[in-house]
Amino acid sequence: MSGRWGVFLDRDGTVNEEVGLIDDPKRLRLIPGAASAIRRLREAGAVLVVTTNQPVVARGLLDEAGLGRVHARLESLLGEEGATLDAVLFCPHHPEAHHPEAADPRYRRECECRKPKPGLLLEGARRFGLDLGSCYMVGDSTRDVAAGRAAGCRAALLLKTGVAGGDGTCPDARPDAVLDNLEAAADWILQREGRA
Ligand SMILES: [Mg+2]
Ligand SMILES: [Zn+2]
Repeated sequence: MSGRWGVFLDRDGTVNEEVGLIDDPKRLRLIPGAASAIRRLREAGAVLVVTTNQPVVARGLLDEAGLGRVHARLESLLGEEGATLDAVLFCPHHPEAHHPEAADPRYRRECECRKPKPGLLLEGARRFGLDLGSCYMVGDSTRDVAAGRAAGCRAALLLKTGVAGGDGTCPDARPDAVLDNLEAAADWILQREGRA
């Protein structure tokens, strides 16, 4: 029996504007069209899981409760446009904190959840009974594409929003398509699913 299908979304530069580290909910702004893209994917039956690296926690700039408030704001802004997420999964770690003297040692380690590793996607699949081979990864960085590949997703899509693949983290990661924004990614996925 096959599981459900879903779309894994990166957060910064994919759903909300890339503005550097977000340590205050007020800094969070949605990318125009992102909410309607999420709504359309849900209407087509997709499980929607945000997967995001948030070393802001490891750097000691925000604790997990503070990050929870940022995500509450994200879900509230999406909700105003009729869009909902199934989960927001985050990696709070950093392998080598940029400011060791200020960083929280509890989060300073190599982990399995920091993209390009697939840990967050695997966790989402476990939690919602997803068939990874029927899932999609959408993000604005090459590390998102690599995470989607490592998880065995059906396709990994790179967006021209945010850093637009300019992170240089995983230069060998090849996206299935490079698209203007999350709206265009929703179109691409819905077409692939035969629901366009
Ligand atoms: Mg991003
Ligand atoms: Zn982690």
